[in-house]
Amino acid sequence: MIETKTYLYNTLTKKVEEFIPNEEGKVAMYTCGPTVYHYAHIGNLRSYIMEDVLEKYLRFVGYDVKRVMNITDVGHLTSDGDTGEDKMLAGAKREHKSVMDIARYYTDAFMQDCEKLCIKKPDVVEPATNCIAEFIHMIEVLLEKGYAYIAGENVYFDTSKLKQYYVLSAQKEEELQVGVREDVEEDTNKKNKTDFVLWFTKSKFDNQELKWDSPWGVGYPGWHIECSCISIKHLGEYMDIHCGGVDNIFPHHTNEIAQSESYIGHKWCNYWFHVNHLNTKGGKMSKSSGEFLTVSLLEEKGYDPMVYRMFCLSSHYRKPLEFSYEGLDNVAATYDKLIKRLQNLSEEGEIETDKVREYEKKFSEALGNDINTSSAITVLYDMLKEEMEDATKRHLTARFDEVLSLGLTKAFEKEEVDEELAAYVERMIEERKQAKKEKNFARADEIRDQLGKEGIVLKDTREGTLWSKE
Ligand code: AMP
Ligand code: ZN
Repeated sequence: MIETKTYLYNTLTKKVEEFIPNEEGKVAMYTCGPTVYHYAHIGNLRSYIMEDVLEKYLRFVGYDVKRVMNITDVGHLTSDGDTGEDKMLAGAKREHKSVMDIARYYTDAFMQDCEKLCIKKPDVVEPATNCIAEFIHMIEVLLEKGYAYIAGENVYFDTSKLKQYYVLSAQKEEELQVGVREDVEEDTNKKNKTDFVLWFTKSKFDNQELKWDSPWGVGYPGWHIECSCISIKHLGEYMDIHCGGVDNIFPHHTNEIAQSESYIGHKWCNYWFHVNHLNTKGGKMSKSSGEFLTVSLLEEKGYDPMVYRMFCLSSHYRKPLEFSYEGLDNVAATYDKLIKRLQNLSEEGEIETDKVREYEKKFSEALGNDINTSSAITVLYDMLKEEMEDATKRHLTARFDEVLSLGLTKAFEKEEVDEELAAYVERMIEERKQAKKEKNFARADEIRDQLGKEGIVLKDTREGTLWSKE
C-alpha cells in the first residue's frame, strides 16, 4: 500500500471527507451503468472516465476493489421518474427492432467505446433483465415490512414511512415532486407525491414489450430497484462508494437509498461520488435530445479517443465541463507534444527507487485530494522536468498511466523491424536506383508499383529513397 490518505467529496454529507472503507484494504464500489437504447454520448463517457480514474487510483494506492455495474435494459422511463415511455421501447420503435436486439447492440457499442477510452470493464456487469426474480424478492420484502403498497395494480414505495427521504439533495420539495410539474400527469394511485413505482403491472403503456410474471400480475420493474438489488446481490449489505452522474442524485439515487436501507434495515452506502455534466453551448449533452457526440464521431473527425480522455482529465470532475472543438484541439496539441517528449526518453540508466517512491507519493496525494486529475498530470510534467535517469522517468510514466490510462506507454514501444523485409526492400530500392541510372524508367516504376502492392510506400528525398509500411 502507498501510505497516503484519500479525501473525496461525499454528496451524502456535502463535504470533502477522508475515505475509510468498511473493511480494511477493500473497497466495494458500484456504478450506475448505461441505459442501452442508444449510443453512449461523450457526456455519459465523461462520467465513466472519471469513475475509472477513481477505481484505478484506489487500486494504485493498494486497495482491493470490487466494482459492479448494471446495464439498464428495462424500466428506465423517459422522465427518470414514473412517467413517460420506457426508453428501451422508444429505442426499439425508432429502429424497428426488438428491445433485446437494441439492448445487445448498444451494450456492445458501449463496451467498445469504453475499450477505446481505456475504461476498465467492472468486475461484474449485470443486465437488469437477468435479475427479475431478485427484484421481485426485494419488492416482496418491502411489502412485508410495510414500506410498499399496491395501488391500481402497481407496487409503490411509501416514502412517508421514512424518517428522511431527501438524504442526498437539498432541493425544495415542491420543485421535485413529479406530480406538481405542469407537464406531468399526476398518478392518483400514489399516497404521497414522492412515492415511486417498484413494479408496474398496469400503466398507460400496454405495449411494453418485456413483461414478466409476478405476484402482482404480469409487468416489469421500476428503474431504481435494479441498482439497489444488483449492488446488494454482488457487494452485500455494506457498500463503500456509489457513483453516477449528478443527474442521478434525484430521483434515482435518492430512491435507491430509500429502498435499500428499508430492505436491509441499516445504513447502506457511505460515500456518494457524482460526476458533473459535460455541456455544450446549448446545455447538458443528452441522448434524448437526439443531438449528441459519440467517440466514433470524434474518431471520424480525426481525434484519438485518448485526446478526449485527456480533455476530461484536464478539469475537475465536480465542475461542469463545456465541450468545444477548440478546447479539444488544444488538448490534441498538448497530447502530441507529450508523446513526442516521451519518445525521446532513452532506455539508459538504472531506475532510482527513492525517486520512484517520492513521485508515486506526490501522484497519489494529487489524486487523493478529491481526484484532482489535472494536479496529477502536473506531477507527471514535474517529474519529466526533473534531473533523473530516463529509465526512472519511463518507469514512473508507466506507473502513472496505470491510473491516467492515456496510452502513454505506446511512446516506448519500438516498431518491430522485420529484418528479412527490410533487406528485400533495400534490394529493390537499389535495383530501382540502378534502373533509373540506366534510364530504364519503366522498370523503376514497375518496382515502385510492385512494392506498393505489397504495402510498402517509397518516398524519394534528397538524402535518398525512404520507405515505410502503409
Ligand atoms: P444513462 O445511459 O442515461 O443512464 O446515463 C449513463 C450515465 O451518464 C449516468 O451516470 C448519467 O448520470 C451520466 N450522464 C448523463 N448525461 C451526462 C452528461 N451530459 N455529462 C456527464 N454524465 C452524464
Ligand atoms: Zn443506478
